Amino acid sequence: AKEIIFDHVNKWYGEDCIALENVSFSIEKGEFVFVIGKSGAGKSTLLKMLSRQISPDSGKIWIQGEEISSMPKSRIPALRRKIGQMQPEYGLLAHKNIYENIELTMCATEQPRRLFERRIRQTLRTVGVEHRMWAFPDEISEGEAARVLLARALVVNPKILVADEPTANLDSDSAYDLMRLLEELNRMGVTIMVGSHDRELVSIMRKRVMTLSAGRLVADERHAVYNSMA
Ligand code: ADP
Ligand code: ADP
Repeated sequence: AKEIIFDHVNKWYGEDCIALENVSFSIEKGEFVFVIGKSGAGKSTLLKMLSRQISPDSGKIWIQGEEISSMPKSRIPALRRKIGQMQPEYGLLAHKNIYENIELTMCATEQPRRLFERRIRQTLRTVGVEHRMWAFPDEISEGEAARVLLARALVVNPKILVADEPTANLDSDSAYDLMRLLEELNRMGVTIMVGSHDRELVSIMRKRVMTLSAGRLVADERHAVYNSMA
């Protein structure tokens, strides 16, 4: 079954800046896809459209059979329970501990309060940082912070995980660990889209790679491999 469909999606910022031009693709349930391209290529714009943080100016987007660009606002929390997000601009709030940070997401996605503690603990355990539940963001390492951000994305029990540059602050060991975690989730059936400009990491993973250039989808390859020396 098709999990995600983009059909001739366009997005402009002002008259001169086209962020996405005629982008069409589909992703099957259970796929793992990288979206790569230079800074400004349109990766973040594309990834934010999945949770309707940005809507297309024209074209359509379906998530699990539902056309999301025209759906009523009241459906957005339900959409965001399907889609876990890891985004650079959604960092951890410094004055709240890890538990409270994740609690915010459970509130934003309108989940029942009685589930909070069990679910937060369980999700932190899945990514190996349960022991950090009561710590504050400045007391944990970048690698742990990346795992906490992943836990926060998973707390909605999503069918789809969208991660925009999830390894940006990480050394290569931690980056690789995070990728292994994503692979494990993928094996459990979660469809995964990752924005990245780390060609070496993308190469190692041997997944489907979609390449954006100036807002256009210029390549879409199964198991793309790059020569990092090139
Ligand atoms: P990437 O994630 O690949 O770096 P983006 O999707 O962030 O690319 O940006 C695509 C293009 O749209 C860039 O030219 C960027 O400058 C522009 N852009 C992104 N967000 C905005 C915005 N809020 N207002 C105006 N221009 C934007
Ligand atoms: P905003 O203030 O941007 O409207 P929300 O109220 O939607 O934010 O969300 C509050 C917090 O919950 C934010 O930090 C956001 O990153 C997080 N959040 C919301 N939905 C999700 C999701 N599906 N996955 C991960 N985090 C989410």
